[in-house]
Amino acid sequence: MNILSDLKELLLPRLCPVCGKLLMQNEDVMCAYCAIGLPRHHIPNIIDNPMLRSVWDKVNVQRSTTFLAYNHNSPYHNLVIDFKFHGMSDNAVRLGHWAALEAERLDFFEGVDALVPVPLTRWRRWERGYNQAEMLARGMAEVTGLPVVNLLKRTKNRKLQSTLKGEARIKNAEGIYKAIDIPDEWRGKRLVLVDDVMTTGSTLANCALALQNVDKSAEICIFPLAYAK
Ligand SMILES: [Zn+2]
Repeated sequence: MNILSDLKELLLPRLCPVCGKLLMQNEDVMCAYCAIGLPRHHIPNIIDNPMLRSVWDKVNVQRSTTFLAYNHNSPYHNLVIDFKFHGMSDNAVRLGHWAALEAERLDFFEGVDALVPVPLTRWRRWERGYNQAEMLARGMAEVTGLPVVNLLKRTKNRKLQSTLKGEARIKNAEGIYKAIDIPDEWRGKRLVLVDDVMTTGSTLANCALALQNVDKSAEICIFPLAYAK
C-alpha cells in the first residue's frame, strides 16, 4: 500500500455494503466476514435444473448457472443495489469475476463463444452511466478470455421489472428485447446471456427468444449473478 492509497482510504472510507463496517484496504467489495457468509447458490447440474425448467416452456436454453441465492430481505441484497443504483460498477466487475471462477469449475464455459449482456434502454444506460449486466460480463471475461458482445437492445421504456410481480412482470418483459442485425461472425455460436438477478426468468427467456428469432442456430446459455428461487 502506498501513501496515495492510504490517503484515499482516509478521505473516502469504504463501507461494507452488507454489514456497514469500515472496509480494510485489502478487502474488496465487502468485508472478509461477510465474504465468508456469502449466500452461494450451487447448481450441481448445469444442463437440467430449476432455472432451466422455468424457461423451457418458452425457449430452448441449454445451460444455466448462477453464483448467489437472491433474497430481497437479506442484507446481501445491498450488493446488487450498490452496483445497480449507487454507481458501484467496479463491484459488478468483481462479482462477475468471482461468479465466473465458480462456473469454470463446472465447465460451464466449455465451447462458449461469447458473453452477451442483457441490455438496458438507452435512457437507463445513459442515466446509470453503464449497464450493470455488461460490467458483470466484463468480470466474467477477465476469467474466461471470452469477448463481451452486445447483440441485444431493449426497445421500449416500460416499468422497472423489479417493481412488478408475477404475471405483470412476464407481460412487461414480452417483446421489449430485440436482437440487433447480428453479423455473420456471431451467428451459429454458443452464447451466454448475462444478467444481474433472475426471478421469474422472463427477462432471460425473452432475450434468448430475441436472439433465436434472428439466428435459429444460436445456442443459448444463461448466467444471472443471482437467482431468486
Ligand atoms: Zn461486512
